[in-house]
Amino acid sequence: MLPNFSYVRARSLNEAIRALAAPGARLHAGGTDLLGCLRDGSVQADKIVSVSGIGALRGVTAPATGGLRIGALTTLAEVASNKQVAERYPALAQAAGAAASPQLRNQGTLGGNVCQRPRCWYFRGSFHCRRKGGDTCFALQGENQYHAILGGNACYMVHPSDTAVALVALGAHARIAGPGGARTVPFSNFFVLPETAVTKETVLEHNEILTDILLPPVAAHTKSRFRKVRSRGSWDFALASVALVLTVDAAAVVTGAHIVLGAAAPAPWRAAAAERAIIGKKLTAEAAAQAAAAAVQGAEKLAHNEYKVALFRGVVEEQLLAMA
Ligand SMILES: Cc1cc2nc3c(=O)[nH]c(=O)nc-3n(C[C@H](O)[C@H](O)[C@H](O)COP(=O)(O)OP(=O)(O)OC[C@H]3O[C@@H](n4cnc5c(N)ncnc54)[C@H](O)[C@@H]3O)c2cc1C
Repeated sequence: MLPNFSYVRARSLNEAIRALAAPGARLHAGGTDLLGCLRDGSVQADKIVSVSGIGALRGVTAPATGGLRIGALTTLAEVASNKQVAERYPALAQAAGAAASPQLRNQGTLGGNVCQRPRCWYFRGSFHCRRKGGDTCFALQGENQYHAILGGNACYMVHPSDTAVALVALGAHARIAGPGGARTVPFSNFFVLPETAVTKETVLEHNEILTDILLPPVAAHTKSRFRKVRSRGSWDFALASVALVLTVDAAAVVTGAHIVLGAAAPAPWRAAAAERAIIGKKLTAEAAAQAAAAAVQGAEKLAHNEYKVALFRGVVEEQLLAMA
């Protein structure tokens, strides 16, 4: 059952920031994640601040400086079907199109997708886990088939957002507004691991709002793609995903690589060793296999998620070869 709360429909960014100052206030964008969290009690709120009426937070525009600016309230369906996103940043269009179901993509926003709370069943269940301020990660000794093989320590959830993986790989930035003004943070620093802060997933402070997603101009000879493996084809969270951004010169040698894993760690996981393994080489079967092995270097298997190591290796190898 939903708890009782008051409801504010903010007409401007400043009004929303002011309304969010109260400790029990929560931002509502499309509500597809927030309302579920309130219903299952993993998040508490006594005031809901809707930003859906702030038109300036919607839409895709191309700034004169190059790149693209996507308002945080742009829906996943709009991101997936936008021609400029699809042509210039296919990894993001593919990730947005692979997230959730058609109905959820029509309602859920890009900002909400990257700020959504963990899907770990202990967090969503009635367990006072580390992420809720407790002192135990129940996944460590419990049902951990969907949990992290990299970057876990205090908490082994995997970050649930598909678009987050693509945004980190594409070198996108988050534009954030708060009581002290605006700041810009690269998405590579936007998500936090449990060792930094175990009760939150991003650098956002309580009354800060993600307003824009800024995509950099695409460098010459650079391509991107996103691939997600899930149990059900219709809709499901990722068992494993990867976003790749590769720059390849005229001699077919890789000169730049961003390889980011999703559903591997509590935040999108940059596979730096895999990137190093492929840079300076042609995309041969041997080079792809070496990079794929490097992608899971340091993986820590829990009792029920060993399959993920082979799965990530296979997906990275498959996608590198697909880009050859
Ligand atoms: C059944 C189901 C299946 C799903 N499958 C997938 C999947 O496969 N892949 C995937 O990536 N996602 C999946 N999702 C998650 C879904 O994509 C998100 O619920 C959606 O994108 C959230 O967007 P929203 O606008 O509804 O966010 P809301 O529910 O409004 O907000 C989500 C959270 O983000 C915060 N927030 C929202 N916008 C902002 C902002 N601009 N600034 C600061 N904080 C903000 C809110 O306070 C809240 O905590 C699934 C969800 C469901 C219910």
